[in-house]
Amino acid sequence: MPKIWRPVDLKEAWEIQNELGLGNYCYVAGGTWLRTQWEANLCSMSLNLISLENVSEMTEIQEQVSNGKHEIMIGSSVSLYRCLKSTLLNQYFPPLVAACKKIAAPSIRNQATIGGNIYTTAGDTIPSLLIVKAELLWFNGVDIVAEPLEQWLITLQANQFKRDNRILVGLKMATEEDVKGAFLFFTKVGRRETFTSSLVSVAGKGTLTSAGFFQNVTLAAGGGGYPIRLSEAELELENQCFSPTLFQQIYKSIVVEFQATADPFASADYKKAVAANLITSELYKISGQPGGEQRVVGS
Ligand SMILES: Cc1cc2nc3c(=O)[nH]c(=O)nc-3n(C[C@H](O)[C@H](O)[C@H](O)COP(=O)(O)OP(=O)(O)OC[C@H]3O[C@@H](n4cnc5c(N)ncnc54)[C@H](O)[C@@H]3O)c2cc1C
Repeated sequence: MPKIWRPVDLKEAWEIQNELGLGNYCYVAGGTWLRTQWEANLCSMSLNLISLENVSEMTEIQEQVSNGKHEIMIGSSVSLYRCLKSTLLNQYFPPLVAACKKIAAPSIRNQATIGGNIYTTAGDTIPSLLIVKAELLWFNGVDIVAEPLEQWLITLQANQFKRDNRILVGLKMATEEDVKGAFLFFTKVGRRETFTSSLVSVAGKGTLTSAGFFQNVTLAAGGGGYPIRLSEAELELENQCFSPTLFQQIYKSIVVEFQATADPFASADYKKAVAANLITSELYKISGQPGGEQRVVGS
């Protein structure tokens, strides 16, 4: 049987992990992802499980002002259920709430944490966080250090997904003033309504000016590979109006840029096509084209 450690703060957690040594412990937040790995024999249970549930610094959703910027900070141990009920997140980050709503069933969402969802690198919340340029907050034994989520994903991919010993304390996102014509969306396609992780999930954010120009668009896709920002498609949209040619070009860029991976149910090409279709159809609706509804969040 594994030994369960229950630190009450980051400092104690750090002391325990240092004493045990890298590779001899495993952090457990809600345990919902880990359980599936253990049950499917994808990884063995460590002899030391360090529970994060009592670590005091990671349990809240807070508003803060940092360098004059209004930000929302979410502690890693906040459950997906609490995220989707949060007034602050509903007000400022509806795509994140829409993503949480579409993860698993209520019993899992009560236990599963946002930190665990991000740390797996496959979580459905990640595209909705990439479009708002979320920063991760890491405890390195001395300080809490911020790192852009996008940068963390790029570095991990370059390192063959080798992890270090830092503890994910939470994440922060800057809020923005309401702008006329602003749009946000999150869409997920899965194999069944509630019990599987997604085939593909996509998110987007930006503004459509009154003259019909797309501006400051951020797009992201995940689910069928590791989640990424779709920077090429973003650039191609900047200051452009809807046209069939533009949308064909955006479609092609997404197919090239999204590095989807195949699984037993869907090929990589299929997932790329799904991501490109989902995004272009959301943008089509937003641009007010005939047959499209406008401003869809969490469809
Ligand atoms: C039936 C079922 C359906 C699911 N459906 C979905 C779905 O639709 N979409 C989806 O995205 N996911 C899904 N999941 C996966 C999982 O529930 C979520 O990803 C969940 O958010 C993981 O959070 P957790 O707290 O349970 O993580 P855990 O299982 O506790 O941990 C996940 C990983 O993160 C590490 N970790 C956790 N917190 C920290 C921290 N603070 N610092 C450092 N390391 C940390 C752990 O060591 C572990 O490696 C599903 C799971 C089940 C069982």
